[in-house]
Amino acid sequence: MTISCPTCKKPSAPRAENKAFPFCSERCRLIDLGDWLSESYRVPVGPDATERDGVSEDEAAGRVRTPDDLPN
Ligand SMILES: [Zn+2]
Repeated sequence: MTISCPTCKKPSAPRAENKAFPFCSERCRLIDLGDWLSESYRVPVGPDATERDGVSEDEAAGRVRTPDDLPN
């Protein structure tokens, strides 16, 4: 019987050889825990999360060229 990791959907190793069971790895277990505790909070995956990206993207969308910027 094969168990799929609830986080990444990859097959998980059996409980006997996998202390993160039913997750495939400790990392996936922690990710799932983080989602549970706070839906909006994301466990940082890398040194630079995408947080900054989202903010700047919002700002850019808010103030794209306006007619007043034309040199006319
Ligand atoms: Zn996984």
